[in-house]
Amino acid sequence: MYDISKVREDFPILSRTVYGKPLVYLDNAATTQKPLCVLDAMRDEYLNVNANVHRGIHWLSQQATDLHEAARETVRKFINARSTAEIVFTRGTTESLNLVASSFCEGFMDEGDEVIVSNVEHHSNIVPWQILAQRKGIVLKVIPINEDGVFDMEAFQQLITERTKLVSVAHVSNVMGTINPVREIIRIAHTYDIPVMLDGAQSVPHFAVDVQELDCEFLAFSGHKVYGPTGIGVLYGKEEWLDKLPPYQGGGEMIETVSFNGTTFERPPLKFEAGTPDYVATHGLATALRYVTALGMDNIHQHEQMLTDYAIDQLRNIPNIRFFGVPNNTDNAQTTHQHDAAISFLIGDIHPMDLGTLLDQLGIAVRTGHHCAQPLMERFGINGTVRVSFALYNTKEEVDTLVAGIERVVKMF
Ligand code: PMP
Repeated sequence: MYDISKVREDFPILSRTVYGKPLVYLDNAATTQKPLCVLDAMRDEYLNVNANVHRGIHWLSQQATDLHEAARETVRKFINARSTAEIVFTRGTTESLNLVASSFCEGFMDEGDEVIVSNVEHHSNIVPWQILAQRKGIVLKVIPINEDGVFDMEAFQQLITERTKLVSVAHVSNVMGTINPVREIIRIAHTYDIPVMLDGAQSVPHFAVDVQELDCEFLAFSGHKVYGPTGIGVLYGKEEWLDKLPPYQGGGEMIETVSFNGTTFERPPLKFEAGTPDYVATHGLATALRYVTALGMDNIHQHEQMLTDYAIDQLRNIPNIRFFGVPNNTDNAQTTHQHDAAISFLIGDIHPMDLGTLLDQLGIAVRTGHHCAQPLMERFGINGTVRVSFALYNTKEEVDTLVAGIERVVKMF
């Protein structure tokens, strides 16, 4: 394990106050704070290396290109992809999912073909498919979940038909922190030769994700949720798939030759990277990935698991609490490996927005609302939840502050 107080020194924002109270930042599923090394790396690049990548023969451009391509190698290693050709830089999970939806649909789907998602998806793994359903007549099917937020795998098998072209599911639910049975999903889908895309926005920051071991065809994640900068993300795709998918956007960087008689495209990953990439952000992301690797993804996972288990235990003592994705009946408690660093709940009939606002007054940052997962809210018949989500720098004392804060707020109702 690592030294938590030393780790916190890497994140100066954690020692600021809010309304005169120490900040307790528990909104890490929305975005994480950035360690100094990431900010330093990006500042240093703008100060000393800045030049557009891939195009220049001059020294600075080559230095910037080297940093940018070294970042691709760092990402490759982090998720254990076979080759850097499999690592496409995007603006984030949302763009990665849109890229696959758009290109896959164009290249491999006809009217009436089906894609399977689940009931726990973030809007960014629902709406792109709905847009394509409208434009092209593809059909969106949904894996149902039970009361504890767990996939109904029998129903999943029944959704598969010969028209099913892709399964696209969240690795970890951003609302409930439930770890979905993606290995089983991939195993079943592959028996029908159906490729699988994983939305890794909430898994990659919390535990080691190995794309070769998972054997998924695509994986999307965001830099800003894994201690890197905003505006940068990753699409991993098996090389054979990236080779055969049509390009997403057209422009500079992604072409081989352009003529009014016809244009040829670069090979992946550049084929999917039209325009000047955010090469400073890729360097920042690589720095963040090296930072978490040095701490140890297993250590981070263990630490966050300890916080999550502790928080669930403490929160259970609050009367009328209703969890989502954590069994409300303790006899039935889930084992820790099925649950990750986010917890969603409601307390009695207190509106989540009221609870969130009053906790904010105490310096405690939590998220309230539908968390960009309205179909999941609909499934539970609610409008929103309160969500606390942990990162590698959170402490047990912060959980205690949260629980004491909730107890104080509850007394006001
Ligand atoms: N999927 C999941 C599971 C998420 O948690 C998020 C961010 N809340 C996204 C997709 C979208 O990520 P981004 O906004 O960084 O593109």
